[in-house]
Amino acid sequence: MSSRKIVILLGPPGAGKGTQAKMVSEKLELPHISTGDILRNAIDAGTELGKKANKFMHKGELVPDEIVFDILKQRLQSADCYPGAVFDGFPRNKTQAKEFLELTYVNEASSIKAVLIDLDHEEVVKRLSNRRYCPNCNTVYNLINKKPDKKIDGDYICDKCGTKLIKRDDDKVDTIKNRLRVYEKSTAPIIDFFQKKSIFLTVDGDQNVQAVNQQIMELLNK
Ligand code: AMP
Repeated sequence: MSSRKIVILLGPPGAGKGTQAKMVSEKLELPHISTGDILRNAIDAGTELGKKANKFMHKGELVPDEIVFDILKQRLQSADCYPGAVFDGFPRNKTQAKEFLELTYVNEASSIKAVLIDLDHEEVVKRLSNRRYCPNCNTVYNLINKKPDKKIDGDYICDKCGTKLIKRDDDKVDTIKNRLRVYEKSTAPIIDFFQKKSIFLTVDGDQNVQAVNQQIMELLNK
């Protein structure tokens, strides 16, 4: 067994998985693996995989497991993943969760923890409809509680790299509602599965970013 550490962040869309995964990955010095970011990059690059994935993503549906496992396995082969990784948006259903726990990469790990960032659906809709992101450096903002500092010609721009911020294609109210339905049907059952494996922890996502992060780090360091 290696000293590999695996951290999985679970939660409804908009709970703050991406923000927290970035913070946790910096603190633990592990790569942040977001299957959503990898898929969005493939769409932006216009690859065949991106085209296939986009058919599901823009409706808020899950991308088929084979596509997700292809990109994930490829990512895990990189040397930076050897010490472990922080997973954000993966696994998304019970099949992915089961198959993931069977990977040699995971079986060799000395620690696997899944943390649920819990948030009610009303708050999810409010947060996601106000979310904006930078298509260049992937920094995520929220017009309610994490507003960018500058606007140019009426458009918000990224504090870090100055790129015009955009709304994710799937952050429209109807798509958000569908993503929540998909979460309840496909992703929430993972909670029960991870609970039975005794690797499940939970934090309250309805707090400020720092407070959520502190709770997560406390749980991971226990
Ligand atoms: P996210 O950035 O994690 O909110 O993911 C955005 C979208 O990408 C989701 O609504 C799905 O369409 C797709 N996606 C991301 N990760 C997965 C996954 N593990 N399995 C299936 N679809 C995914």
